[in-house]
Amino acid sequence: MNRDHPFDDYRNRRITVMGLGSFGGGLGAVKFLAARGARLTITDSRPAEKLADSLAELKHLPIDCWRLGEHREEDFLQAELVVVNPAVPWRHPLLATCRHHGIPLTSEMNLFWQHNRGAVFAVTGSNGKSTTTALLHSILSRGSRRCWLGGNLGKSLLPDVEAIEPDDRVVLELSSFQLADLNRLQVSPQVAIVTNFAANHLDWHGKLAHYRAAKQTILRWQTRAGTAVLNRDDPEVCQWQTQAQRIPFSLQDQGIDGVFWNGREGVRRTGRQVVTFPVRDWLKLPGRHNLANALAATAAALAAGAELCHIKQGLQTYEPLPHRLQLVGEAAGRKFYNDSLATTPESTLVALEAFQAPVVLLAGGYDKRVDLQAMAAEIARSTKAVSLMGQTADGLRQQIAAQPLVRTRCSPAHVNFQQAFDWAMEQSSPGDVILLSPGCASYDWFRNFADRGTQFQQLAETWMARHSH
Ligand code: ADP
Repeated sequence: MNRDHPFDDYRNRRITVMGLGSFGGGLGAVKFLAARGARLTITDSRPAEKLADSLAELKHLPIDCWRLGEHREEDFLQAELVVVNPAVPWRHPLLATCRHHGIPLTSEMNLFWQHNRGAVFAVTGSNGKSTTTALLHSILSRGSRRCWLGGNLGKSLLPDVEAIEPDDRVVLELSSFQLADLNRLQVSPQVAIVTNFAANHLDWHGKLAHYRAAKQTILRWQTRAGTAVLNRDDPEVCQWQTQAQRIPFSLQDQGIDGVFWNGREGVRRTGRQVVTFPVRDWLKLPGRHNLANALAATAAALAAGAELCHIKQGLQTYEPLPHRLQLVGEAAGRKFYNDSLATTPESTLVALEAFQAPVVLLAGGYDKRVDLQAMAAEIARSTKAVSLMGQTADGLRQQIAAQPLVRTRCSPAHVNFQQAFDWAMEQSSPGDVILLSPGCASYDWFRNFADRGTQFQQLAETWMARHSH
């Protein structure tokens, strides 16, 4: 019997769910386990007021014990299984206690993986995961097999797991937190995509090596029958080991088997066969980074037998996800872009690259202890002004000031988002782009990236309403 997953029948089992979370994973686990008759304890360090939406969804379910606003050791010591939210750091003392007492730990994703019968296509990377996942889902949905979308993107698939047939396809976005846990099951997806790799989430992982090892779980347990779509432009990722068949993708035609951009169109090479396709015309999303995401999704879909017409329809009908370089509106000559999901410095760099017009940037946020040097250099060189936010504001200001070439105007310290926005607008003139692309996580001033993006949208809409004649 697997120590991590000691039973499949959850009836009357005492199970503690740690962390409801805001993205549906905890809710999915609770719904799944409650439907199977488990005796559930739900514990979350946040108080009930902050969890109102989640609690409303669970109102009608039989829950044995709610423990909100705190965690108590007894809820863990009495459990036969603990389902841990991926946001809880793996070094959390209560998890150490569970390990010490041999109490098995699992996660919503591991439960899904244990019960799922469909073929899994999974995407990970430091940037571009969601876009690539959603693009791949859009393409595969054009084929004859039923296709599901889940993981870190969208909703938890766990409550639906029994409806997923062996012939179905499941497209998952996997975060490093989820992958770290999946390693315990010793499984990897049939088709894996790695978009890129850069330092991230060091507050959670502690060391870069831990983050890298977590990401590599997506390839670690693949077999020869599997497929690994790897970014050839990323010097690390293209070296990662796998038993599966490797398919490289790149923004330069490498002249080998793989899927590439040759400067004009997409190229797929397999043996002596070369097929070209007008990927730029099919894709509505701006920027070279999105071209790379589209090539990765195309490579995975073609490897799984998709036709070019599916790629075309899948890319053409793709509806952009919110908070990713999303045009909010235009007034008085200013265009507002919400890129709140740019929570890493690399994503802010690609956002800045996508614009020719002068940019007034809103950047900074919660400190994940990643190096912001390259982002500071690019802000100094290419933006007109930068309104700095959150914990990283002071550090960024110093790093910008230390650059050899400083064209940008840096804001003073702000106390809230309204102030940061107002300062940005004072710096702007007609023809400018006002871009929220923080390069940092949002947890200090906001509930999450969606809250940050929505607040930006509201401020922009108010401003536009006032300046629209
Ligand atoms: P993730 O799921 O990894 O956070 P998303 O697809 O949600 O990635 O995109 C988040 C942000 O990252 C976007 O705002 C975009 O500007 C940037 N981004 C998207 N794809 C890439 C890429 N391939 N390389 C670098 N940055 C990217």
